[in-house]
Amino acid sequence: MKQIFLLGSSIAYSLSPVMHNAALSAMGLDWNYSLWDLSAEALPEAVAHLRTDDCIGANMTIPHKEAIIEWLDELGRSARDVRAVNTVVKRDGRLIGENTDVIGFLQALRDTQFDPHGAHALILGAGGAARGVAFALAQAGAASITILNRTHSRAQALADDAHRHFPELTTALNQTCGADLVVNTLPATVPFDLDTLKLARSAVAFDLTYRPAETPFMREATAAGVRAVNGLGMLVYQAAASLELWTGIKVPVAVMFDAVWRAAS
Ligand code: NAP
Repeated sequence: MKQIFLLGSSIAYSLSPVMHNAALSAMGLDWNYSLWDLSAEALPEAVAHLRTDDCIGANMTIPHKEAIIEWLDELGRSARDVRAVNTVVKRDGRLIGENTDVIGFLQALRDTQFDPHGAHALILGAGGAARGVAFALAQAGAASITILNRTHSRAQALADDAHRHFPELTTALNQTCGADLVVNTLPATVPFDLDTLKLARSAVAFDLTYRPAETPFMREATAAGVRAVNGLGMLVYQAAASLELWTGIKVPVAVMFDAVWRAAS
């Protein structure tokens, strides 16, 4: 049986296997998608395994989206500027890094009816997922992006990269006022005091985590009168785009939504 892996650390919560395996089964493919919980030190060994004939490819999540890059042969168009990889595909025996978080985030945001064009966005975090979100918003014509992150140098690097590729985009660090979209890319275990952001009532709060269905971040946003959404839609859309890269055929997105809704409830 051919294999696809999700490489990450402390990822037992992930709904990716249930969602991908439901889609693979509906597509009549005898492939299996499973979790591979590993540290950064084990990435070379995992990449060596991805090169074997048994493996179709992989996804990567926290904290490997940037660290994986040095072990791959090439970055595809979707990951080259973002410098974060959530999907590895094989082409002619070479491992190519791609990024489907960008398209997944934008599709999920579109479902909320929020128009990112001209928006002032605040991104909490500056890791691999934040990179995808920042480039997605820049591509969609956001006016400004402010990044708040524990490690200043990482936030600065993301702001500089985004500005280099989108010179018309205003980037800033650590300002908390005036955002009409706040995107939380911090792990679910990291609390954040939303009150400090002084969001407008019309703002949207988007949490990339999705378990529980109403995350603590969403609860705070709702209590502040702000519309809140979780990362389930993004999870499905980025996964569908990855699966399309691996199979080359259209994937059953409705089956994937159904699988995660049932597993999450
Ligand atoms: P990552 O590259 O490891 O980045 C983690 C981010 O969280 C960094 O900004 C890091 O700050 C910050 N952080 C970690 N621990 C912290 C702590 N104790 N206090 C303050 N900040 C802390 O991980 P990632 O790949 O971006 O993933 C982030 C989250 O997004 C994960 O929960 C992942 O499951 C989720 N995600 C969801 C989707 C979806 O489809 N719904 C897609 C992608 C990611 P430093 O830079 O200071 O270390």
